[in-house]
Amino acid sequence: MRLIMLTMVLVCCIARADTFAVEEKQTKDPLYHYLEYLEDPQHSLTIDEVMDFPAERWTPNEAQIFNKGYSNSTWWLKIQLSNASGHKLNRFVEISYPVLDYIDAYVTNGTIKQSYKLGDKYPFHQRPVDHRNFLIPLEWMTDESLTIYLAVRSSSSIQVPIMLWEQHAFYNVDQTRTLVHGVYYGIMFVMIMYNLFVYLAVGDRNYLFYVMFVLCMPLFLASLTGFSFQYLWPNYTTWNDQAILVALSGVVFFGALFTYRFLDLRKRHPAYGWMATVLTVGALLIIGATFYLSYRVMIHILIPFASLACIYAFVSGVLQWLSGNLAARYYTVAWTALLGGGVILALNKFHIIPKNTFTEYATQIGSALEVILLSFALAERINQERRMRFDAQQDMLTTERELRQAREEALTIQKQATESLEVRVKERTKELEELNHKLEELSATDQLTGLKNRRYLDQTLAEEFARCCRYGHTLALLLMDIDHFKSFNDTYGHLIGDECLKDVAHCVRKGLRWPSDRAARFGGEEFCVILPETDKEGALTVAERIRKNVENLNFMVNDKKVPVTISIGVAVLVPTTNLAVEYILESADNALYESKEAGRNRVTLHAA
Ligand code: GH3
Ligand code: MG
Ligand code: MG
Repeated sequence: MRLIMLTMVLVCCIARADTFAVEEKQTKDPLYHYLEYLEDPQHSLTIDEVMDFPAERWTPNEAQIFNKGYSNSTWWLKIQLSNASGHKLNRFVEISYPVLDYIDAYVTNGTIKQSYKLGDKYPFHQRPVDHRNFLIPLEWMTDESLTIYLAVRSSSSIQVPIMLWEQHAFYNVDQTRTLVHGVYYGIMFVMIMYNLFVYLAVGDRNYLFYVMFVLCMPLFLASLTGFSFQYLWPNYTTWNDQAILVALSGVVFFGALFTYRFLDLRKRHPAYGWMATVLTVGALLIIGATFYLSYRVMIHILIPFASLACIYAFVSGVLQWLSGNLAARYYTVAWTALLGGGVILALNKFHIIPKNTFTEYATQIGSALEVILLSFALAERINQERRMRFDAQQDMLTTERELRQAREEALTIQKQATESLEVRVKERTKELEELNHKLEELSATDQLTGLKNRRYLDQTLAEEFARCCRYGHTLALLLMDIDHFKSFNDTYGHLIGDECLKDVAHCVRKGLRWPSDRAARFGGEEFCVILPETDKEGALTVAERIRKNVENLNFMVNDKKVPVTISIGVAVLVPTTNLAVEYILESADNALYESKEAGRNRVTLHAA
């Protein structure tokens, strides 16, 4: 019986967690092995009661982590530390799960030395050390034993990753951690600003969705890691949990919108387009619900929902890539990076892969890679569109050029046609004018002699008569008749008579000097000459010259000279309105008659 009792005590002792004897060289130790816990489902226990509990009430933690999942209970944790260094020690206890709602921490050494209110449902400034994780500063003397009690209650899962740090070592490691986070947020900030400016400049809504997506992503991670509580809203304790939900819903909402627009799913994969609508509407509903339902309920809805969205985005990218959408290449790789980060984080949490700097920041690295690659994807898409637009423009330009050429050719042909038509019309008009002129000439010309005919003479005489009448100039008229022409004809025949008429006409023409003087055949063997603005002397001189020309005409018939003479009657007057044109003709005719009477081959001036 004694043996059994002893064995039981021994078993209890083995099962009981040890006191951690902290030594000088200790810098960083996980405290899982030294943890004991008990559950308080009613939240009824006080620190005084708990401190008095016998050792058997506590359960030693045998797992590598302390994780009780989602639980409504208050979980009491106990760690015992002794000082084996030989002098005073300063240490930090770090709990690196910043979303825990309430951690009431008590540092005791038989009595309560210090108590702290940690947890993100307490304002940030209540923390003993300003840090995104929960830090409990410890200071205790050699051979002093500390017992730390933590009362943990949270709507998030009850995870307490707990570590004991030498303070300098903590600050050294923390510097690097903060730097890595800083780089991550720096990348995100630059991507947000850069793409926001691109959006403002280009106006492509893809960029806006992308910017909002990139904004929600680090906001979500900052809320998970406690940065946003520390720097953005250190007093808004109720918003803390909600921020995680809203930011993650925002990631889904804008991620789905971006995917939908970026991959052009409406046109290319209508079913996936519908899915995007479901996701965006779902994300909005979840955001709305966060105002009414607890974090616990919402996170249970949101995590599968976000996982679904992530798979959806990834699968859409793969499908688009396979169907030849080049921009989907970067897009898919980008989502692979984020998914990869998530998977590494999960494997890390379940201790399937070891913890190191890379695995610890897998989410941040994956998310930064995703954001950068998506930016590439956007640029690639813009490139693609620009190429297409350029090609279309080239086609348009070619068509335009061809059209312009065709139009120019048509114009040239039309112009040439018009020109040749004009030329032809001009030529024809000229020909017609010439013909007309010829006709007029012909109708005014005597066929036999080439002098003007009687029609022309009547017209011209009327005009000259009127003109001289207007200006008061003298007008002279010569009327001529070949002497004894009847017998000439009778003797030599009509043909020779015609030849004689031609020669006499030539003599008449030769006798004229002024361009205004005009000669015409009056009829038969009679000729007439109009001499405008010519006085008696002038008229007589011209008449005498013509008479002499005819007299001297060496007209030969059968090598025998045949004398030819003419008689001329001259009328000179200043026409007045009282006189008719016929009067001057009659006067000249009378004078001619007198020449005939007086013996022919002479000139007689009509006695006015
Ligand atoms: P006079 O000296 O009195 O004038 O005598 P004449 O014979 O010339 O008489 P008249 O003037 O009466 O005769 C005109 C003649 O002129 C009549 C005709 O034989 C001739 N004659 C008229 N016209 C033409 C013509 O066109 N050709 C030819 N060959 N003879 C013509
Ligand atoms: Mg006659
Ligand atoms: Mg005669």
